[in-house]
Amino acid sequence: MNDGDRQRRLSVSQSKAFRSDSDCSIYSTWLSRVLNYCLTFYQNIMKKLFLLVAFIAAAITQQLFAQDTKPNELTPLLNSYYDIKNALIKSNGADAAAHAGEFLKAVAAVDIKALAATDMNTFISLQDKLAFDARHMSESKDIAHQREHFATLSANFFKLAKAVKLTDKAVYYTYCPMKKSYWLSADAGIRNPYFGSQMLTCGKVTETLNK
Ligand SMILES: [Zn+2]
Repeated sequence: MNDGDRQRRLSVSQSKAFRSDSDCSIYSTWLSRVLNYCLTFYQNIMKKLFLLVAFIAAAITQQLFAQDTKPNELTPLLNSYYDIKNALIKSNGADAAAHAGEFLKAVAAVDIKALAATDMNTFISLQDKLAFDARHMSESKDIAHQREHFATLSANFFKLAKAVKLTDKAVYYTYCPMKKSYWLSADAGIRNPYFGSQMLTCGKVTETLNK
């Protein structure tokens, strides 16, 4: 008997043995159990994965929502800026100085670590410039001098307002052609802080944030 015959016989006897009915049903029962087990296992894993994904999605949504509703660390600066601007509209140097002092304190009080990374970079790049103009305004009661500093304060503050969401309300960036300078306002109506009552309605809105 050569090797070929031996193998043929072997495979015939194996297939005979395998084809006996009882073996076949044991095999199929076993196979269906394994398949069932695999299916249950797979379903459990998928259920857990689904729960995990749902949980992560909920956590992310909550995080985004929390960031949205939390007032920005820099929002007090905007309110303080508007106070300075309103004092200048009334040509009230003493009030302008007092509010510039508040603005200066608010700049110093910002918790930089609480800011988002991009907000932090923008604020750090403008912090000293904002403080410089606010300090000069707070130390002077000469309204002409205050208005000089208010022009650069406004230009720098607008850079901040553009990069960082300080408010949900509209911010109007308004240009005074006489002074060749800008200011920020919560109203679209023109009330010029550079000339006060002399030229109260001179100026035009050039850009609006949060339209
Ligand atoms: Zn000065």
